[in-house]
Amino acid sequence: MQTHFPKALLEDPDMAQSEKILRACVHCGFCTATCPTFLLTGDELDSPRGRIYLIKEMLENDRPADARTTRHLDRCLSCLGCMTTCPSGVNYMHLVDHARAHVEKTYVRPLPERGLRAALAFTLARPSWLRLGLRLSALARPFKALLPKRLAAMLALAPIEIPKASDVDRPQVFPAQGARKMRVALLNGCAQQALDPGINEATARLLTRFGVEVVVSEGAGCCGALAHHLGKTGTSRDFAARNIDAWTREIATGGLDRIVINTSGCGTTVKDYGFLFRDDPLRAKAAAHVASIARDVSEVLAELAISWPAAAPRLRVAYHSACSLQHGQRITQEPMALLEAAGFEALSVPEGHICCGSAGTYNLLQPELAGALRKRKVANIETLAPDAVVAGNLGCIAQIAAGTNLPVLHLVELLDWASGGPKPAKLSGLTYLPKY
Ligand code: SF4
Ligand code: SF4
Repeated sequence: MQTHFPKALLEDPDMAQSEKILRACVHCGFCTATCPTFLLTGDELDSPRGRIYLIKEMLENDRPADARTTRHLDRCLSCLGCMTTCPSGVNYMHLVDHARAHVEKTYVRPLPERGLRAALAFTLARPSWLRLGLRLSALARPFKALLPKRLAAMLALAPIEIPKASDVDRPQVFPAQGARKMRVALLNGCAQQALDPGINEATARLLTRFGVEVVVSEGAGCCGALAHHLGKTGTSRDFAARNIDAWTREIATGGLDRIVINTSGCGTTVKDYGFLFRDDPLRAKAAAHVASIARDVSEVLAELAISWPAAAPRLRVAYHSACSLQHGQRITQEPMALLEAAGFEALSVPEGHICCGSAGTYNLLQPELAGALRKRKVANIETLAPDAVVAGNLGCIAQIAAGTNLPVLHLVELLDWASGGPKPAKLSGLTYLPKY
């Protein structure tokens, strides 16, 4: 694509980076075929190619974002399906991230919209505030039918029973069982601590059982992804910097072989810390190192080459591949292979490349499009008639669970159960038992 950025604009490294990305696009339109929002609306401006044109127009002319550009960028899920499809290697992720930051700086959203976005960025990143929000939302549940669509969508995703804070999320060290094969830091995250702390508990049990020392580092927490996708670059950098500093201290004191992430949306962001801090004289090196040892939990389990005890019941499990895992991190084989190795029957979901509509805060901010994508995803899952659904990202788990009666679990919960951990409460309706 030809670009005409004034020279002075290209002195800004972010602008220069975006111009380079724009020039790689050859307008072929292959990406439109796999873009979930284009599939739903049929509007070129809701396709990657259409958005790329809007971004080019906005950045090249150094003009403030307008309502039309903001609307179509807001409708983008950042699912990165377009990056998997693009034959020219266009880095849509970095382009849309820059465009979102530009929108945040230059477009004045209506006050309620600004308030909602600020509240989400603040609350979701702080587990104790999120727990408080969940308690308040429980009071509003009886009046759901009277609430605006967005608030009703939030209630639909909130757990009915609010889990207690877990001890696992305090800074501490979980020793490996038997000979230590690896020492890792677990990113215990933010919203996951409040919404489903059992996932971090299962991760710690599973890894330590197979010889991994697991550290929850003092000072580490939210990865910054939620704020990043809202265009709040300063906030997301602050969160990322705290993690980089915390893990750098951990590396200096006890050493770390890996940083383990069990929420793939966070994993995509942590693996990009090197890029985010590329021009930061204080943290560029440390950020690049942190990114280089960051792994999804499925990658670490695969690396451990575990001999699974083959104790799992032959449950039929539909594997939902989160976009952040398959498109963001290009991890497609490991989770299915782990499920099969542990004794489950792993089933691929038809149209598996299409997003479920979760996408960070997308299902809260764009409930109609997110609801249509959930319906499509659940219909595809239910054609398999599985016993359960499994995914590697809390956002997808909550999104899919809100549209089906099937139990929806995290991969580590099933693998933990299959190797001696407790039966996940979500499977209490099933009579299968492991062969222990
Ligand atoms: S990230 Fe997803 S929704 Fe956004 S343009 Fe690409 S394919 Fe479409
Ligand atoms: S597939 Fe790639 S090169 Fe083709 S229009 Fe989409 S982003 Fe541009």
